[in-house]
Amino acid sequence: MELPGNRVKDAFDCVMAWRTDRLTPRRCPVCGADGLEISDHSARPYVEWYILACGACGLEARLSLPLAGPDH
Ligand SMILES: [Zn+2]
Repeated sequence: MELPGNRVKDAFDCVMAWRTDRLTPRRCPVCGADGLEISDHSARPYVEWYILACGACGLEARLSLPLAGPDH
């Protein structure tokens, strides 16, 4: 299942939190279940790529974070 448009912000928030603390379990941004899997597929220094997967609702979403400068 792809990430619904109205959940994109939640998914980004989840990834941002995970980047600074990878030990805390994250909740699925779609169904709220514990045990969201996040994996880092980044190709630095060009782009950061993350894949979110949830076994409860079948979510599989790819999120890319452009390596933005301080203006963004
Ligand atoms: Zn889910």
